[in-house]
Amino acid sequence: MELPNCPNCGCEYTYEDAGMVVCPECANEWNPADQQQEEMVRDAVGNILQDGDAVTVIKDLKVKGSSNTLKIGTKVKSIRLVDGDHNIDCKIDGFGAMQLKSEFVKKA
Ligand SMILES: [Zn+2]
Repeated sequence: MELPNCPNCGCEYTYEDAGMVVCPECANEWNPADQQQEEMVRDAVGNILQDGDAVTVIKDLKVKGSSNTLKIGTKVKSIRLVDGDHNIDCKIDGFGAMQLKSEFVKKA
């Protein structure tokens, strides 16, 4: 069985111990069964994102239904992760409620 890379640091030298997968790099331990149920949402550089995180937009983004562009460097507070192509729900000052793709943000 192929073991998954560490979700924390991306280390590939993980090993199994008593049903848990262990990372030798950062000592992270997790249950691979849990891992499959809940896929991690990652930002542009591979940080794991969670509900309530603050992120920064890393690319100018056109906003649907608006002539405004969401500028690179825009800070977004209190994101909420959702299923789908645009997997971040958030509210941005001047734009209101909108959805972003995790690949276009970086954890602040
Ligand atoms: Zn690790």
